[in-house]
Amino acid sequence: MAKNEKGDGAAAPGVNGRAYPLTDHAYDVVVVGAGGAGLRATLGCAQAGLRTACVTKVFPTRSHTVAAQGGIAASLGNMGPDDWRWHMFDTVKGADWLGDQDAIEYLCRNAPEAVYELEHFGVPFSRTEDGRIYQRPFGGMTTDFGEGPPAQRTCAAADRTGHAMLHTLYGQSLRYSAEFFIEYFAIDLIMDEEGACRGVVALNLDDGSMHRFRAHKVILATGGYGRAYFSCTSAHTCTGDGNAMVLRAGLPLQDMEFVQFHPTGIYGAGVLITEGSRGEGGYLTNSEGERFMERYAPHAKDLASRDVVSRSMTVEIQEGRGVGPEKDHIYLHLDHLDPDVLAERLPGITESAKIFAGVDLTKEPIPVIPTVHYNMGGIATNFHGEVMTAVDGDADRKVPGLMAIGEAASVSVHGANRLGSNSLIDLVVFGRAAGLRCAETVEAGSSHPELPSDASDLALARLDRFRHADGGTPTAELRLRMQRAMQSNCAVFRTGDVLAKGKSLIQDIWSASKDIKVTDRSLIWNTDLIETLEYDNLICQAAVTVAGAVVRTESRGAHAREDYPDRDDQNWMKHTLAWADDDTQKVRIDYRPVHTYTMTNDVSYIEPKARVY
Ligand SMILES: Cc1cc2nc3c(=O)[nH]c(=O)nc-3n(C[C@H](O)[C@H](O)[C@H](O)COP(=O)(O)OP(=O)(O)OC[C@H]3O[C@@H](n4cnc5c(N)ncnc54)[C@H](O)[C@@H]3O)c2cc1C
Repeated sequence: MAKNEKGDGAAAPGVNGRAYPLTDHAYDVVVVGAGGAGLRATLGCAQAGLRTACVTKVFPTRSHTVAAQGGIAASLGNMGPDDWRWHMFDTVKGADWLGDQDAIEYLCRNAPEAVYELEHFGVPFSRTEDGRIYQRPFGGMTTDFGEGPPAQRTCAAADRTGHAMLHTLYGQSLRYSAEFFIEYFAIDLIMDEEGACRGVVALNLDDGSMHRFRAHKVILATGGYGRAYFSCTSAHTCTGDGNAMVLRAGLPLQDMEFVQFHPTGIYGAGVLITEGSRGEGGYLTNSEGERFMERYAPHAKDLASRDVVSRSMTVEIQEGRGVGPEKDHIYLHLDHLDPDVLAERLPGITESAKIFAGVDLTKEPIPVIPTVHYNMGGIATNFHGEVMTAVDGDADRKVPGLMAIGEAASVSVHGANRLGSNSLIDLVVFGRAAGLRCAETVEAGSSHPELPSDASDLALARLDRFRHADGGTPTAELRLRMQRAMQSNCAVFRTGDVLAKGKSLIQDIWSASKDIKVTDRSLIWNTDLIETLEYDNLICQAAVTVAGAVVRTESRGAHAREDYPDRDDQNWMKHTLAWADDDTQKVRIDYRPVHTYTMTNDVSYIEPKARVY
């Protein structure tokens, strides 16, 4: 589908004496990633008349967004009273006061419009009796600023909401003539001497050709990096490639120590059972058959926010009340629910439980365990999607030409802990915002300045180094060591000692990566090479994740330190920024203040208080 190729092949001589002819492309905007965020931004830019390309390593509708089940949060009030300010309060509280409140206001007040827009684009939402969009309760979503009963705020298309969104957004993007470069793997950003982003270099997986995309704006929408862990709900493609590109460009990632564990991954398989299942009435039990969440969260019970439920489950298991022969997991019950409700509202997980746990959930409980699910951390941006860095005391310095959205970004609306169904809404609200910002700041069709002569060197040299890597350790071995280290030493419960050991394990694996071995030297569908590039992307993110966790001596949201059980607003209500130097394999940490102000006067700053459910 690459309609725009100039393809003179003379752009670059290559590296290490090996030629990598480049095909040049020029666009107003290049979006990397075709998940919910990337597609919404692509659509917005194309709609605004900007020449827009979307580069994606998998077919758009195979992006991880397709797996999102439970739904998308917006205060439509279809099932009872609701207000975007209540949604904002819940999000600030869910984030454990690490979110930027201006961005959270932007998210929550724009959420209803974004959902109606999806409806009009054609997303087949489930319906209420009177034909309105069906909404279910989700963890941490309440009414009346946390004082009222749970809110039914999560709009759903059965338990296949992400699937419905992706197909609709892809169709709409094609309608506005966005151009797609499918199964193109973006390797690195093109940065100029002034620190501005000027484009991206990508490999066409299908024929091995190299492509240089110039753009006035590059929007990274490359998703999360769940695959740094051994057990996660995310797809094998969730390797945080954009995050790693940002690190290699000498820019920081934000709040990477905050990794969300979903309470209900299927034991042994990692496959997700949506929180919507508890929204529909499901509950957890221990080996004594006790509904233990009533003890930990008397008010919200099984619908407390994810970090709270995951920790409670881990305590039950640690104290010997886990189920199964090893007493190492927990049961999720849906067997008391009306089979018709299960068939209508939760058909997908009925199937998953059968396939991955061998369980008929109308009759038996599902074995579940907290599983890595979401990365709150990522590329620091403002609420327009513009990437920020910290330079010379300026903590909000914009990086020209570079934007980020979706799970790759840290806006930060999810702070220390994301509420369920708040990611899908983040994708479309900030995907849309990025499109609007490009429409404001980019002149359609304007010419591109000359690129620096060494513009593609970083990307090509990295590709070439791994393609010809001839060490003694296969990529799969290093990856497994990294995943196990992260799983055991940077998980739900953390102490200084456990994390320090994790940091040194990851450091060892990072240095052992110099001895990496790639066996296939070709460029066409070379999965060995691609997995190596992805592993290399993961290891530097693992390094900044554990480095941020070691130094944060408090408990906040998903970052729970047994040795520092309390939140410490005095010292730690600040975002972590982490830089990683690929050559020296060192991580540098700094901080930037949390935005303790709102976007407008329609709502006032929500003061920190204890987070109980
Ligand atoms: C099983 C599961 C269920 C979930 N359910 C919900 C839910 O019900 N509600 C909710 O709010 N959230 C849910 N989430 C979270 C939410 O789905 C994700 O956070 C969100 O879909 C991420 O979307 P994204 O657009 O940022 O990235 P993704 O959908 O992950 O897409 C990333 C895109 O980037 C591209 N890409 C990546 N690297 C490269 C590269 N090097 N070169 C080219 N392209 C690249 C990929 O091809 C892909 O198109 C769920 C997550 C999981 C894993």
